[in-house]
Amino acid sequence: MNIEQIRQPFTDLFPGDLSNNPMQRNTPKVLFATVQPAGFEGSGLIAFNNALSEEIGLGTYEEKDLDFLVGNNLPENVKTYATAYAGHQFGNWAGQLGDGRAILAGEIVNKEGKKTEIQWKGAGATPYSRHADGRAVLRSSVREYLMSEAMYHLGVPTTRALSLAFTGEGVVRDIMYNGNPQLEKGAVVIRTADSFLRFGHFELMSAQQEYKTLQDLLDFTIQNYYPEITTDGIQKYKDFFENVCKRTVHVITEWFRVGFVHGVMNTDNMSILGLTIDYGPYSMMDEYDLNFTPNTTDLPGRRYAFGNQGQISQWNLWQLANALHYLIKDEKFLENTLNQYGSDFWEAHDKMFCKKFGFDELRTSDEEFFTNWQGLMQELQLDYTLFFNQLEKLNAESDIKSLFENVSYVVLTDQRVKKLENFTQEYLKRLSSNTISREESLSLMKHTNPKFTLRNYLLYECIEEINNGHTEILEKLTQALENPYEELYPEFSVKRPSVYDDTTGCSTLSCSS
Ligand code: AMP
Ligand code: MG
Repeated sequence: MNIEQIRQPFTDLFPGDLSNNPMQRNTPKVLFATVQPAGFEGSGLIAFNNALSEEIGLGTYEEKDLDFLVGNNLPENVKTYATAYAGHQFGNWAGQLGDGRAILAGEIVNKEGKKTEIQWKGAGATPYSRHADGRAVLRSSVREYLMSEAMYHLGVPTTRALSLAFTGEGVVRDIMYNGNPQLEKGAVVIRTADSFLRFGHFELMSAQQEYKTLQDLLDFTIQNYYPEITTDGIQKYKDFFENVCKRTVHVITEWFRVGFVHGVMNTDNMSILGLTIDYGPYSMMDEYDLNFTPNTTDLPGRRYAFGNQGQISQWNLWQLANALHYLIKDEKFLENTLNQYGSDFWEAHDKMFCKKFGFDELRTSDEEFFTNWQGLMQELQLDYTLFFNQLEKLNAESDIKSLFENVSYVVLTDQRVKKLENFTQEYLKRLSSNTISREESLSLMKHTNPKFTLRNYLLYECIEEINNGHTEILEKLTQALENPYEELYPEFSVKRPSVYDDTTGCSTLSCSS
């Protein structure tokens, strides 16, 4: 790997705490602190993403690179740091947060001049670790590694994953926060992104009234990551805010398309580039449920439930608007843009659903159709992914009971079958009024509806296996997630087996990672 080409331009441009002191503390007025990875003995490779490594300019992996994968024995040019950010967690201002278990190696530039940031997750404590250890357990590392790549191949904007390695160290976690701590295997993921900047970085500088740094950060972000913005002065910042809204509409609509529930949509987990970031207690949805939240910490209020993700992203953008207000200075503009976000989101959402159903275009009458469909899905506990896969096979002669028998998590009684029949008749009627051919309609559906999604129970099985020293499922899942619009392994295209209904790690997850 070309580790010697990694640089840290960010640390030259912004104020930082250069003391190299890992002690947890507030670091006012700075955007980063220099910090060293902990260093591990007995590390071991689990998975490496060759294609990504080549693409970003890091080249081929050799055995000697194992050290780098966990942050050991770094060369001179890799001057590591952690960034400071703030955020609103579960609706409340949380003050300074920051990279608590993420450490940046810096940036690599590929042959085409494209820059990519490289970051370890779980390689040790930083000033922002807030009484935690800066480590990550195998369980959460496998989940981040596989899911970020699954999202990438689904076509959803996301950070990516380069490698997954054991640290050789044990890590203590109390999964259910019930006083039963256990020793788990520690692991480190290297993840990559154009930038890991979050809403929270801007919130931190604004809260500390560090307006010069705030403006520099904004200019830096626009210059490097928003080439579509060509204006100057305050208009540039207005265009930026509108474009962040646009990208956020896109990423959240994409979550709805594939059935992804993030689980912790705090503003510190919102990428300023509109990427999916921070894979924690997330889940792909099995049975359709607007109220589904995979995060046990979120259960009381279900703030981050599947169906709330549109409204919550808007709430998060309000916080970003507050942070940028000093520079944009135009309340009316911010308010209008945020209101526009609401309508843009629902329009994009409904247009996306038209594609899932194979409709030519969004019609006013489709709204009622979608509402009826939601009711049906919720009542019959139909599997989100499998439902659309089966819908592609539907025709006027279909036997509805057998078509949907293996899609529902409840028994399909005659009464329920009748409801499905009524729905499919409505659906076929709507399809017959399409101005596009059946082939075009089917092609829309096939490109919009994945055949494979990385369900929590599959991750659970994969983690169990790796824990026991095997990687067969990991390899199969990797192939499947790289080809999500095909059915490579029929055994993955089934609903969640009932044995997993109440298993921690399958139906619900904690933040303890
Ligand atoms: P999250 O909700 O997972 O995005 O984390 C919120 C904050 O807690 C972030 O600043 C994280 O960096 C920090 N954090 C989470 N887990 C750990 C850990 N094991 N060690 C240190 N910091 C952590
Ligand atoms: Mg986070």
